[in-house]
Amino acid sequence: MALVDVNQGGRDAVANVYNGLSSSDYFWTYYTDEPLSIQTISQHSFSDFKDYVKNLHSNSNFAFGETNTTYSGFYTDNPYIWLGVPHTNYYPTDPDIIFCTRYENVYGGIDQRSLWDAFRSKYNQTFSRTWIAAHKDGSEFSQLLGYCMNNNIAPWFYQNEDVHDLSDGMLPQYCNAAWNAGFLDRYDKRFKVWYKCTLTHTHDPLHPGLCNWVEDRRVLEGVFLR
Ligand SMILES: [Zn+2]
Repeated sequence: MALVDVNQGGRDAVANVYNGLSSSDYFWTYYTDEPLSIQTISQHSFSDFKDYVKNLHSNSNFAFGETNTTYSGFYTDNPYIWLGVPHTNYYPTDPDIIFCTRYENVYGGIDQRSLWDAFRSKYNQTFSRTWIAAHKDGSEFSQLLGYCMNNNIAPWFYQNEDVHDLSDGMLPQYCNAAWNAGFLDRYDKRFKVWYKCTLTHTHDPLHPGLCNWVEDRRVLEGVFLR
């Protein structure tokens, strides 16, 4: 996991990039979230958007996320399948990276790994990043991160900045699961701490519970990889 520069403008991602970026603005990846299921961007506009990005910075990645492979296939496939019927796609788009943006499987169960299987079998290594949600995946961080490690997928931590924002509480759990899965190193600081008693009584070494202990001083002994 790493913090990286990604341009993402939410519902107005495409317009924001068109209106807001000059060729001197460089991003590692241009990401569009749910172009069909939320933004209803046309195949033509989506293809144009990729061309625009690649003309701006040919080394940048073009990425998007969708909730299932039918929706992503609307942009990537020719023909694309809609309601079981094949249609010609005159503007198929070949992205560099595809994310999965759904946190349940297709049957509504909380574990989306079967959905990830579908993305992997359809897109192979192009399905190389995915979202894991603070507000929906807390009970399954270890299974999801294990899948990511086993399948060479970089997990991205998702939390909408709304009134249900759980990121402060969930981030430590997520990091712990990521450490268990092998994504993170963990370093612990070890301190030596001295305490003193604040009472004026005669301190009884046999009954330390009778004292009122407060921290006196602490010294950092080192930082250790666990
Ligand atoms: Zn004492």
